[in-house]
Amino acid sequence: GGCARSGATRTTCPYCGVGCGVIATAGDDGQFSIKGDPDHPANLGRLCSKGSALAETLGSEGRLLYPEIGGVRTDWNSALDLVAETFRQTVAEHGPDSVAFYVSGQLLTEDYYVANKLMKGFIGSANIDTNSRLCMASSVAGHRRAFGADVVPCSYDDLECADLVVLVGSNTAWCHPVLYQRLAAAKAARPEMKVVVIDPRRTATCEIADLHLPVRTDGDVALFNGLLAHLAETGTLDHAYIAAHTDGFAEVRGAVNGVSVSDVARQTGLSAVAIRRFFSLFERTEKVVTCYSQGVNQSSLGTDKVNAIINCHLATGRIGRPGMGPFSLTGQPNAMGGREVGGLANMLAAHMAIENPNDRERVQRFWDSPVIAHKPGLKAVDMFDAVADGRIKALWIMSTNPVVSMPDADRVRAAIEACPFVVVSDIEKRTDTTRLADVLLPAAGWSEKAGTVTNSERRISRQRPFRLAPGEARPDWWQLAEVGRRMGFAEAFAWSSPAEIFAEHAALSAFENEGGRAFDIGAHAGIDTEAYDALAPFKWPQRSDEASAERRLFADGRYFHPDARARFVAVQSTAPLRVSPDFPLVLNTGRVRDHWHTMTRTGRSARLSAHTAEPFAELHPLDAVEHGISDADLVELSAENGARVVLRALLSDRQSRGCVFVPMHWTGETASLGRVDTLVSPVTDPVSGQPASKHVAVTARRY
Ligand code: SF4
Repeated sequence: GGCARSGATRTTCPYCGVGCGVIATAGDDGQFSIKGDPDHPANLGRLCSKGSALAETLGSEGRLLYPEIGGVRTDWNSALDLVAETFRQTVAEHGPDSVAFYVSGQLLTEDYYVANKLMKGFIGSANIDTNSRLCMASSVAGHRRAFGADVVPCSYDDLECADLVVLVGSNTAWCHPVLYQRLAAAKAARPEMKVVVIDPRRTATCEIADLHLPVRTDGDVALFNGLLAHLAETGTLDHAYIAAHTDGFAEVRGAVNGVSVSDVARQTGLSAVAIRRFFSLFERTEKVVTCYSQGVNQSSLGTDKVNAIINCHLATGRIGRPGMGPFSLTGQPNAMGGREVGGLANMLAAHMAIENPNDRERVQRFWDSPVIAHKPGLKAVDMFDAVADGRIKALWIMSTNPVVSMPDADRVRAAIEACPFVVVSDIEKRTDTTRLADVLLPAAGWSEKAGTVTNSERRISRQRPFRLAPGEARPDWWQLAEVGRRMGFAEAFAWSSPAEIFAEHAALSAFENEGGRAFDIGAHAGIDTEAYDALAPFKWPQRSDEASAERRLFADGRYFHPDARARFVAVQSTAPLRVSPDFPLVLNTGRVRDHWHTMTRTGRSARLSAHTAEPFAELHPLDAVEHGISDADLVELSAENGARVVLRALLSDRQSRGCVFVPMHWTGETASLGRVDTLVSPVTDPVSGQPASKHVAVTARRY
């Protein structure tokens, strides 16, 4: 239940996709303490540095406390009336596609559900996209191609019982720390377990690695295509599985035919010895889990990388069984929940497809809505392009800071500045994005709002409030519902609590037909407030006939394509080469251990800020020599788009030659102190629309 004991509240950490359970307890002095929830299946009591510092981030300094119009405090009614009236009028004059919502994997599922319902079913556009587009869109697209649905087939305990864990483009130790702790503990208990890390950088995760493959940026497809060729040549394929449960193998087999280790070495920059060692480990070990994260997703080949990995699991039948499978580690706390309610421009709701007329009809009937979006909306990068060129005239940004996090961030700032009407809902008063708002709406934050989130292993957990929101801050779902009501849709947005929204979301997901769809939590349709308050963490699917079951997806070899077969996807292995003589270095962006996103929360903790005091550019010492840079110098990085960023040089042989790493968290008022996404070009994956934030051509010089 929600109440761990008197004065204590069970909730979940707001940071990463591990989704750890925490218990917040009020002390006699009114201060809260946070500890790991020993009963939550994600973390079993563990926390990382960020989670354990949560109590230090609760201060209300800098919070946005009241609605503002044009920078002046106002009341909720005036602000909401203005938002509703401007959106209504813009749609009336310019059509539904002239407005957009840009939302966030920080929103709770209930917030997301309401935003999606308002945009797709009542405004009639699919122009709702999310910062999850920068996070896991390539995994979503890869899963849909292979499995027919956006399904992550593994669980955290599969990692612990695997004999080989392959971590691709994932600094798990820093970005999914509790999962890393679980993995490290499992390996300590069973030293025969092997860990392989595939990453251009020798990250902290390599501390438990038996083998580190410093793959060339975007060399992953070549590596996994080579692996498939090796598995075929060594008789490791499961032909019975391929025949019974898959489609498209012949084409993929043909595409990798004759690929040799030396081909792979040439394409990946890896040594033949290291490649053979990896291939042989994969060949000899049945229980393999391959985890992938932003190093796979944030690429112009992201979706192909995902499918190259899944191909190897399908071809060996190593999926749907304990300790085996491809496993996408989701970055944000609720990127999965957003996917489930359709919070991406190319999805509908409950994993239904916007292109499918039956799905559209079903959702519209369920919502009893006047319209339904009938084509995919604009994905993040395209959405801000449409803001820039005036196609989008009213924009509502919720719980995210695109002026820092979007590629070509200066251009995104200029686009938002030029947009006729910008609404920003946030907990912070002053961010690079709130500065540009016409209307500011104060949002309730973690510890203040109620709802659910879904973690990387498909586990839905409650977030529960344990304090009041400061000032007049209100939850995002409430803000959206109020605007929906004021736009004339009173009945459809009449909820009085997140419990009612979750009950509706679960009912919409309930699918009548046997074997129907992946996302189905019909067991919770119509859940009442009491049961919602007590809701224990559970994994989807949970159909109406399987309350409290935990089903292993694909255990029966059935997938979600209409013929129930999985698909092999033939993927090309040539990595794009973006560097040039003028911009010879590959910039890679990512996280540091103790900060989250643009630091609006973690920046409040002195302890967390102490780990890495300032942004830096990590370079290989030999590259530094070539560019006339010494350790701790200030360096200026510049990119083809003309943007420049000044940072402290950090020389380290953990970095591959020709690469430079810069953390993504910092921002700067003047010049471009640390706002690294100004350098990132808006190159995206053609299938997923996810930006290639880890492959940007730059040059460096002493500042
Ligand atoms: Fe929070 Fe992630 Fe750390 Fe768990 S691992 S405590 S969810 S930041």
